[in-house]
Amino acid sequence: MNSTEKKYKWRREDYQENTKGLLMVHTGDGKGKTTCALGLMMRAVGRGLKCCMIQFMKSRNDRYGEHASAEKLGIEVHTMGDGFTWDTKNPEQDRATARATWSLCIEKMRSGDYDMLIFDELVYVLSYNMLPVEEVLSELRAVRAAQPALHIVVTGRDAPPELIQAADLVTEMRDIKHPFNTGIRAQQGIEF
Ligand code: ATP
Ligand code: MG
Repeated sequence: MNSTEKKYKWRREDYQENTKGLLMVHTGDGKGKTTCALGLMMRAVGRGLKCCMIQFMKSRNDRYGEHASAEKLGIEVHTMGDGFTWDTKNPEQDRATARATWSLCIEKMRSGDYDMLIFDELVYVLSYNMLPVEEVLSELRAVRAAQPALHIVVTGRDAPPELIQAADLVTEMRDIKHPFNTGIRAQQGIEF
């Protein structure tokens, strides 16, 4: 084992004993919420942490740069659906998709297999009342009590005050300038 390998070698029990699991929220109307979560996950994986990202708003048909990178790094990413969901004209369907995706989040949280979980756009579904905030917070509280070293990152605009209150770390991305407003469309490697 070389010195770098030694530095990054750890026993999960020691890690857990020395780690305070954080509930982290990336919110606000500026760009950077999901990419910041991905950066965090990249850092964590480099330290040997087991990570998983579940995306509420992306479908299996969305294949972004980060999905290819995650595959290379062996990071588990789940996108929720079939590409025909999140049709805002069908709130019943949206609610059912949110519910199914949240069930997967619960399964991953309760498994005890992970060190960091990212629920991308969970905040969006909360802010649109597709899942009751209190129900989500109560599950997060229970899981965090049972697994005090587990890090959970949630992203999305308009974080409700109850979530901000419950979190350990909240960062608001503030929109100062975005190229979209000068007519520059989403670009490969930057947006997807
Ligand atoms: P990213 O995935 O790039 O970190 P994000 O997660 O902060 O962005 P979302 O709210 O998930 O942003 O929106 C996704 C897309 O919307 C991104 O491609 C992003 O560039 C674009 N976007 C984010 N903020 C703005 C804005 N203020 N004006 C226009 N487009 C935006
Ligand atoms: Mg995002």
